[in-house]
Amino acid sequence: MTQQPPAPGEDPQYCPNCAAPLVLRPLPTEDRPRLVCDRGHILYVNPKLIVGVIPERRGRILLMRRAIEPRYGAWTFPGGFMEIDETAEECAAREAQEEVGIQVSIGKLVGVYSRPAPHTPGIVSIVYRGRITGGEVKPGREALEARWFRPEDIPWDELAYETTNWALRDWLKGRRDTSRKRA
Ligand SMILES: [Zn+2]
Repeated sequence: MTQQPPAPGEDPQYCPNCAAPLVLRPLPTEDRPRLVCDRGHILYVNPKLIVGVIPERRGRILLMRRAIEPRYGAWTFPGGFMEIDETAEECAAREAQEEVGIQVSIGKLVGVYSRPAPHTPGIVSIVYRGRITGGEVKPGREALEARWFRPEDIPWDELAYETTNWALRDWLKGRRDTSRKRA
């Protein structure tokens, strides 16, 4: 039998509906090859949603160093995969609580960042501004440490992901625009 190429980002083998093997093949109703079983169930492979928040206090932002792979030891802001039963804002607030022990009120959107497969897992990252409303900074099990950074001290060379870099640049830009409006 010929080996079927994996779908971008994932490689599921069996139909979640009937457990029959899935094959990637063209279908008359679809504009690209799809994973389909012999009973005609189609498995759509879509990007995963990641939500993050950049917590702010008195002009500084809270970053944490990852205690898990991938990118162990690199800096990022709190964030993670969105659960099926929560909103994007709830996800951002939950991640801040879990990863650095703080309560945040979720503010404006910083940006939406796409990393298409196949060279990454295929993710869309949504990042918000956040204002601290309670709790004490305390790294959770996924963080080695958490620290406040002035904008000029952001460790650009030690950031976890390209999306971390993009979001922090947009955060900085938004901050400059805000101070210009106030002036
Ligand atoms: Zn099936």
